Amino acid sequence: MNTVRYEKILSIKKHYNVIVAGGGVAGVAAAVSCAKNGMSTLLLEKSNILGGLGTLGLINLFVPMCNGRGKQIIFGLADKWARASAEIGMNTIPKEWKDGEPSEYTEKRYRQHFSPAIFAYQLTEEVVHSGADLLFDVLALDPVFEGGRCVGVVTESKGGTELYGCDMLIDTTGDCDVLRRGGIPTVAGENFFTFVTKMVTLETCEKALEKGDVRHIYKNFFGGSINLFGDNQPDDIPRWSGLTVDEVSDYIKRNHLLLLQKLRESDPKTREIVTSPGMPQFRTTCHIKGDYSLRKEDLYRHFDDSVCAINDFEFRDHLYEVPLRCLTRRDTPNVITAGRSADGTGYGWDVLRVIPPAIITGQAAGEAACLAIRSGRDVADVDIKTLQGILEKNNVMVHFPEDYVPEDRSFHGKDTNRRDVDDGGHF
Ligand SMILES: Cc1cc2nc3c(=O)[nH]c(=O)nc-3n(C[C@H](O)[C@H](O)[C@H](O)COP(=O)(O)OP(=O)(O)OC[C@H]3O[C@@H](n4cnc5c(N)ncnc54)[C@H](O)[C@@H]3O)c2cc1C
Repeated sequence: MNTVRYEKILSIKKHYNVIVAGGGVAGVAAAVSCAKNGMSTLLLEKSNILGGLGTLGLINLFVPMCNGRGKQIIFGLADKWARASAEIGMNTIPKEWKDGEPSEYTEKRYRQHFSPAIFAYQLTEEVVHSGADLLFDVLALDPVFEGGRCVGVVTESKGGTELYGCDMLIDTTGDCDVLRRGGIPTVAGENFFTFVTKMVTLETCEKALEKGDVRHIYKNFFGGSINLFGDNQPDDIPRWSGLTVDEVSDYIKRNHLLLLQKLRESDPKTREIVTSPGMPQFRTTCHIKGDYSLRKEDLYRHFDDSVCAINDFEFRDHLYEVPLRCLTRRDTPNVITAGRSADGTGYGWDVLRVIPPAIITGQAAGEAACLAIRSGRDVADVDIKTLQGILEKNNVMVHFPEDYVPEDRSFHGKDTNRRDVDDGGHF
């Protein structure tokens, strides 16, 4: 049996300067940045909360935003949101960093565990206050291209299949799903066996009461527990690309069964799972094949077209700059990406995709999109000095200071043992 996908001619429901597909931290940063520039902006989110893996996916940690020597590297919206999350939710910012960058040398790192649901509500507030339109429970399905430019996005929601027009598209689906469906070249990855839930136990309750601090009330409880390097991934468990419904379902089913098996080994009166991830905890399924791919060999390298400096979350001192080219493709004039969907290879991608850099690349993508619209240029071809100036005004460190670079410039650590597959966009 054959069937036609769209049986009706769709007319544009509403036109926006910018459509942002995907309301994870990167998408929210992009949407807020566009709306604050006076651009009409639509943020499309397929779930019912903002924050993506950080909230719905229960990955509630801003990894370190400093160089491990008391110098802050990641500022901008990442710093603002980490501090805002600490104000009304869990606050685990070390005392050395409580009031900003410490005046004295410290190896204590600036990180923040946040309350996933509370932070998600704060992100909703950010978007609403920015003036962007925000739609929940809507799937950004396919981009529509005319003459090589993206002119709109087809969506699927309670209202059926609809079309929104745009001057610029930002794909922050985390999986580069919209661009991939539009035939833009992407790179697929693979995922290890990781699945984390939040559990309350009698011990955690006691600890919280004892300390008078509710943040001790839950702890992580794992199905698969393989780290980002893939250490000890069992031979009989697949590495999922996460790009088919069968793979996603297989990953979820295996983890649910493993969790049940572990739960059966404990006394039901002593523990309860309070929340389970609402989206697959895949680190990567797909990212853009951009004009540049960030690699671990780019450690301490300055780029003329850097849009932000970022630090490694594992290794002290390690610093990178992210070129605009990791977010763009020269052959797609009005499309840009950010967050997990940005281009990096191996461990280079791992330092790029965690929450603080995802927020900053989202902020950079939003500002680049606005500048492209204002100047009538392709987003890959905006005046880079102007963009960098705008980002610096918005508290983003664009280039790391050379005096933060240690004498020993070698890479410490190991690369990720994950395969990237250049698929040319044909899935
Ligand atoms: C197991 C694991 C552990 C991690 N640990 C940490 C950690 O400790 N600290 C840290 O900083 N980072 C960690 N990370 C990485 C981090 O969580 C993510 O890389 C980061 O949150 C990515 O943000 P994002 O906005 O790019 O994408 P996502 O968070 O994936 O957001 C994408 C959003 O787009 C929406 N979406 C997707 N497709 C569509 C569509 N077609 N239409 C509409 N909406 C759509 C999704 O619902 C989601 O809200 C971890 C990741 C994993 C998987």
